[in-house]
Amino acid sequence: MTINSKLPTVGTTIFTLMSQMANDHGAINLSQGFPDFDPPEELLALCDKYLRGGYNQYPPMSGVPYLKEQVANKLKQLYQVDVDPDNDITVTSGATESLFVAIQAVVRSGDEVIVFDPAYDSYEPAVTLAGGKTIHVPMAAPDFHIDFNRLSVALNEKTRLVIVNSPHNPCGSIMAASDLNQLADLTRELDLYFLSDEVYEHMVYDGETHHSLLTHEELKLKSFVVSSFGKTYHATGWKVAYCAAPAALTVEFRKIHQFVTFTTHTPTQWALAEYMEREPNHYLQLPAFYQAKRDLFNTAMSDSGFALVPSDGTYFQLADYSNLSDLDDVAFSTFLTQEIGVAAIPISAFYEQPPDDRIVRFCFAKEDDTLIKAAAMLCRVKAMQAR
Ligand code: PMP
Ligand code: GLN
Repeated sequence: MTINSKLPTVGTTIFTLMSQMANDHGAINLSQGFPDFDPPEELLALCDKYLRGGYNQYPPMSGVPYLKEQVANKLKQLYQVDVDPDNDITVTSGATESLFVAIQAVVRSGDEVIVFDPAYDSYEPAVTLAGGKTIHVPMAAPDFHIDFNRLSVALNEKTRLVIVNSPHNPCGSIMAASDLNQLADLTRELDLYFLSDEVYEHMVYDGETHHSLLTHEELKLKSFVVSSFGKTYHATGWKVAYCAAPAALTVEFRKIHQFVTFTTHTPTQWALAEYMEREPNHYLQLPAFYQAKRDLFNTAMSDSGFALVPSDGTYFQLADYSNLSDLDDVAFSTFLTQEIGVAAIPISAFYEQPPDDRIVRFCFAKEDDTLIKAAAMLCRVKAMQAR
């Protein structure tokens, strides 16, 4: 049967492919982004409590009120913003659902949506399914920041949505407060919205600050801001996240959310809420926790032939391998996985038109032993071997 595909250029995601290759070859998996350690024991015990305590039927469509309140408290404590838990916050089944729903809520046929390449892989298919056109505005190595000259060229009256991502996957770059001001200045006259993918909001290093779009007086009025409990609580498989947006946008968001998943796993929402209330400092410790892992991995890689691109946030580390190989990044990632025993992500997968860089992404959300072992193996990659 021949199917007239709605997504003819989309294949299986690079994360699925590389994790599969890592498993097939018994490689250490530093490709797909997930921790190789468990969520806090106390949180697991709370899941058990709610699973066995009768919290197993549909929760309210927009999320368990207790969890939405805890999210509002967190946003107040962290960013000094007032977000109404009833009208502005919706719990979804992963950030992936929030991103998809927000895009469907505002993008119509013929609308343009700006993304900054390298861009996370779920944005463009969601735009395409909404009938929109994705406009890719490149960011350049090694600092991977928004090029506002290029952005101003791309913006026009058809632009309906601008998708930003900070801390940035895969680059590890973060937006400054001045970037938010420039976004506001350039878009003030246009009828558009923002979708801010802030799933790594609690992972910023070296004393830097995460600047949520919620903290910007102008931008927050037209933004969907998305975060993921999966990242914050070392539980990527739970697929629980939230979207914060002004009430009018949230009304449209929920109209779609109710027909995509309707609700999200009940006992996990209760457990996360109680854990957030009991341990408000969990996410405050994440910068130190992950910075130590980044530094451990980078120090162990210092004798390798890789040139590490500074990572200010996320749990990803980019590595330039141009001193080691002329292979393109897909072939080089395959070589690393199959011959060296460490899986990585080729970042060309995040581009419409990949530049001629030689860069792969490693995930450092791993036990220290895993990072030390992987780095030792990566130090064995010799120039020429991989040509
Ligand atoms: N956005 C970015 C930038 C991500 O890296 C991820 C990775 N998981 C997601 C969204 C999706 O998050 P979730 O697993 O909560 O759907
Ligand atoms: N966000 C994860 C990453 O960047 C992958 C999530 C997925 O596999 N869809 O590695």
